[in-house]
Parts: sequence; structure tokens; C-alpha cells
Amino acid sequence: MKAYRGRIAPTPTGLLHLGHAQTFWIAQHRARQAGGKLVYRTEDLDPQRCKAEFADAAQDDLKWLGIEWDEGPDRGGPFAPYIQSQRFDRYRSILGQLKSAGLAYPCRCSRKDVREAASAPHEKGDEPLSPGTCRPPLGQAAAFDIESAPRVNWRFRVPDGESVAFEDGRFGSQSFLAGDDFGDFILWRHDDVPSYQLAVVADDHDMGITEVVRGEDLLKCTARQLLIYRALGLEAPVFYHCPLVTDPDGQRLAKRHNSLSLQAMRNAGATAKSLRAKVSELVESG
Ligand code: GLU
Repeated sequence: MKAYRGRIAPTPTGLLHLGHAQTFWIAQHRARQAGGKLVYRTEDLDPQRCKAEFADAAQDDLKWLGIEWDEGPDRGGPFAPYIQSQRFDRYRSILGQLKSAGLAYPCRCSRKDVREAASAPHEKGDEPLSPGTCRPPLGQAAAFDIESAPRVNWRFRVPDGESVAFEDGRFGSQSFLAGDDFGDFILWRHDDVPSYQLAVVADDHDMGITEVVRGEDLLKCTARQLLIYRALGLEAPVFYHCPLVTDPDGQRLAKRHNSLSLQAMRNAGATAKSLRAKVSELVESG
């Protein structure tokens, strides 16, 4: 059996909150329990939304809380760089492979076009189902001249009607229907930013990750990512999704909940020990 390699992968678009602390705590625990390594990766793909100050704050908060990693932007390691904005060449080559395999096609639809064409409302934060307006017939090139199209997203052609199943370490058997639960998703954005789905597969594979621990909100993304692994002929890691943490009104914690950020709690006098106790409580009740 391969030696365990886990990872924590925050996106620096805001301050970390208790939900992140819980997920990363579980990730650290599982890596330790397996006698394996933990990798820290900064997922700063989107130059408009990601900020260096949040990347620094995330590392600082997690160290303060008592989370330690073996490889990462601050300590290097055999798979450096551990910063997604420095890995675009690799992502570009993966996109090239998917294009060659006939599984990536250019799409001219704007977000608004897709939203308006979607027959069902999409889940909050999830991509609306692509109507497939630009999807060429299998084996055929794009239906329009890409060079003269100003805003082209590249989409992954999902196998409509196929159910993508996996066994989650926390939530058990999962299954999502391609073309129904999710549609042709974006691999590369028109403003030259790779998508999370593409980058995360490239990195988890390249960094030798054996188990992905992350929030429950990404269960459906796992199905999308499994299709990319398969398309590239790569072995996928196993997955363990963590229950989401909610605020006192039952709303899922988000970065906009600044008052519930680890920093705000620290500033209000919480000690690392008290927050660790809170996180353990959450883990046990989850
Ligand atoms: N970067 C993502 C986040 O902060 C996590 C992605 C993942 O773990 O696959 O929500």
C-alpha cells in the first residue's frame, strides 16, 4: 500500500473560519493516524479574488491553532511550488491533453447565457448546468472559429447519463448522474484562468496525494474530478468529506461571516486551546 499523503488546500479569498479549522483538523488527524505526510497548498487560481494577505493569514491562523504540515509554500518540499498561481504551465498541458482526447471544447456562452438557459435552478455556489449550445458532435472540431471568438471558455464533455460513483470515507456510497447532477463544466476560463476542477486534479496527482479530505460541499465536485482522472488515465485518490459547520441560524459558514473568523475569535480573546476544544467538539458531534 502507498504511504499516506494528505493535503490542506485553502483558497485565499478571505479569512478562515471554524469550518476550515474543522476540515483541516480532520485532515491533519487522518494524516497523523496513518503515519503519513500532510501537504499545504495555496489555491490562488483567481487573481481577481485571491489576496496575498489572506494566504499569509491562513498559514498564520492554522499554525496558531496547532496544525502542522510537512510540505508547503513556507517550507518547500519535493513537489514545489505549492502555490497554484505558479503552476499554470502544468495546468495548460493538462488542458492540452484533454483537448487532444476530444474531451475539451470551446464554449462562447457567457455566464448569463448559461444561467438563463438552465432548466433547473442550480445549487448555491455550484455551476449552472451548461445547455451544451457550443458542444460539437463527438469527434468534431469546434463549430466556430476560435481565433476570432473573444471570450471562450473551455468545457469538459461529460458522459451524459453515466452515473459517477465513489465510496466516501465519511459519507459512504455516493453517486452523481453526469448531464443531470452536473453538466459540461469549465476547465479553463475565458480570462485565462484554469478551473478549480482541472487544477486540483493536476495537483493532487502530481503531489502524490492518496486521500483528499475536504468539505461536504465539494462532494459533487469529486464526481467531476473523477471524470478528469479517468480521461487522463490517472489513478484517483480516495476521498473523505467533512460535514459543514453552520452558524447559529443554520447557515453554512462562509468567508463573509467575518465575525466567526479564526482571527476575530483570536482578537476577542479565544486561546488556541479553547478553539481546539471547540473544533474537537464539532468533530465529535459531526
Ligand atoms: N480550495 C478549496 C477551498 O478552499 C478546497 C478545495 C479542495 O480541498 O479540493 O474551499
